[in-house]
Amino acid sequence: MPPVFARKLTFPEPVTPHNVHIMRQLVINGPKAYPGAMMVQNEDGQQISLERKTIEERTAIANQLLTPQEGSAASNPNGLATRTPAINKKVLRHLQDGDILILNRQPTLHKPSMMAHRAKILKGEKTIRMHYANCNSYNADFDGDEMNIHFPQNEVAQAEARMIANTDNQYLGPTSGSPLRGLIQDHVVAGVHMCNKATFFSREEYYQIIYGALRPEDNYTGQGRVHTLPPAIWKPRPMWTGKQIISTIMVNITPPNLEGLNLTSKNKIQNSLWQRDDGSDPNMSEEQAVFLDGYLVRGVLDKSQYGASAYGLVHSVHEVYGPESAGRLLSILSRLFTKYLQHIAFTCRMDDLILTKEGEQIRAQILEDAKGDGARAAMEYVGLPKDGDLSDPDTARNLAIRLEEILRDDDMMAGLDGAMQAAFNKTTSKINNVVVPGHLVKPFPDNNMQTMTISGAKGSKVNATQISTLLGQQALEGRRVPTMVSGKTLPSFKPFDTSARAGGYVANRFLTGVRPQEYYFHCMAGREGLIDTAVKTSRSGYLQRCLIKHLEGIRVHYDHTVRDADQSVLQFFYGEDALDVTRQKHLYQFDFCLQNMKSFANRFSAADIEDKMDQDTAVSLMKKALKKPNKYEPPMSKYSPSRYLGSMSEKFAAELEKFVEKNPGKLLGTKKTAASDVPQGLRHDQLIPPSTFRILSRVRYVKSLIDAGEAVGLLASQG
Ligand SMILES: [Mg+2]
Repeated sequence: MPPVFARKLTFPEPVTPHNVHIMRQLVINGPKAYPGAMMVQNEDGQQISLERKTIEERTAIANQLLTPQEGSAASNPNGLATRTPAINKKVLRHLQDGDILILNRQPTLHKPSMMAHRAKILKGEKTIRMHYANCNSYNADFDGDEMNIHFPQNEVAQAEARMIANTDNQYLGPTSGSPLRGLIQDHVVAGVHMCNKATFFSREEYYQIIYGALRPEDNYTGQGRVHTLPPAIWKPRPMWTGKQIISTIMVNITPPNLEGLNLTSKNKIQNSLWQRDDGSDPNMSEEQAVFLDGYLVRGVLDKSQYGASAYGLVHSVHEVYGPESAGRLLSILSRLFTKYLQHIAFTCRMDDLILTKEGEQIRAQILEDAKGDGARAAMEYVGLPKDGDLSDPDTARNLAIRLEEILRDDDMMAGLDGAMQAAFNKTTSKINNVVVPGHLVKPFPDNNMQTMTISGAKGSKVNATQISTLLGQQALEGRRVPTMVSGKTLPSFKPFDTSARAGGYVANRFLTGVRPQEYYFHCMAGREGLIDTAVKTSRSGYLQRCLIKHLEGIRVHYDHTVRDADQSVLQFFYGEDALDVTRQKHLYQFDFCLQNMKSFANRFSAADIEDKMDQDTAVSLMKKALKKPNKYEPPMSKYSPSRYLGSMSEKFAAELEKFVEKNPGKLLGTKKTAASDVPQGLRHDQLIPPSTFRILSRVRYVKSLIDAGEAVGLLASQG
């Protein structure tokens, strides 16, 4: 926050013997100095502005802060009989570092459009700044966006902001349960670079980068002590890998009572794209990020791990260690990658876009082969022989007459457009699939343009091909460029021209330039996108308002029912399984749960629930109900899922049983399990008994139940 804002936003801080010295100083500082105070509020609610007071007057007021006002105890400023009269004076002090603020960006389309942030006053700044990870939730960028900031005015509101509305707790979107917050752009590129097999760090670099990322002085490591790892290479000098830096961070952020993270997650970057590897050994593949006991043992980290992607590293940390750790990890990773990028730098230049000579030839050949496609497709569509000769004047005239007929009929024209587009799209995809990325001068890990598009940092494959190969067919409202009455698309073409170019097909690219007609067509298609967004926002905005207004009263009650404003039941269980969307995303990931069994067991402390819930009744009914669903009632209809452990949706129970029976990782087992069924490197006593796993899964189900009072009507209308 800039100081201009900090001096205007105030909080009525009650004066007590504990803080009187600080409050006195703030009052003496007055409204203009920072930190200071705007006003002093007496016990009866009367406010004394410090605006026009001299320093002597302010000092006099400051000295009286603990002196009770005469006859104050009886009076009540708000006239509310229920409210306890204030017994102390209040100082309306300036906003300070660490205060909690509610930020809001309009349009406020969903819950995370308002989040609570901790303030940091930035001296000399004039703009509001915030962490990039929140841009997604607010849909904010920095091209002139404005945001509203509210300062909660009492301790209860502040507690709510800190515990419920804070950014860490808004990691998952309430409509889909998938992550909203994540790192973007430079951080994604830096992550891929850093975890690359070719990246190594000397002792100085390793310590410097770890220290900058972890910030032990801000207690980011738990104990204020940074744990480091021994180097991967000792001779000729100690070197650490980029993966070890990630491992070091994971070791440091793992909460003391929990175990290291175990995770196997698929990356965005396919293994085949790492052209330096031969790709023959699947154990060396970078396609999967594998964490064992908190150590990153294989795979690079990219957008799918710490971007806003489901089941990635940050999402998994959120599930196992909780929202605070996930938020912390995001902050640490963003500092880490920023710092790393300052050392290596990143750029994109012409040689990242150029094709090899061979690639150019392939591109030219495919375009040459496709030259007659337009005429062929047109002749076939109008019913002339496909291989007819257009240099024959009769055929040419015949075609022109039939094309004119088609032009006057919109439906016929749509058909022609479709036929032509189908013919040309083949050429476009043929070129793009063969040439990019196979025939670029620089292959992937060294090609910065490809690094950006493949890792998901910025741009797509379409952007890359539009630069390097061709723009392709330009479309308006799903059709080709419209023809005028003259039978031309632009005055520079012949009437009823069947060539691809006249219909808006651009065979040129940005790298070498497009011709004027092609540029014009491209602008037409680009403009359509702008119009669409302008029209769509107003319509979808009104539609959403209508939905929200009608559904806003619907909420979940203590008996798990979803009810209307007049208490009529809409659903006996929210979503038929009574689960919270944000908590159920990981619930069906049995393998992940099993791998992190100890951490889950410690976090959910199953022992807490044991004596508070019925353990067997619902379980035995579920067993029968799964076998004979027609004979027995669904357990949830008989036993409340919050009172009876094992009262779950049949779908979940069935999936759980299926997993236990299949036992894909062979981690489930007992002492009696055959030695051949125990995974390599594990002992019998390290196997997890299926019964323990079942109990934990049931406990997780209970913990994932939706809270009473949740306004699910709003959630429904947002999706
Ligand atoms: Mg903007």
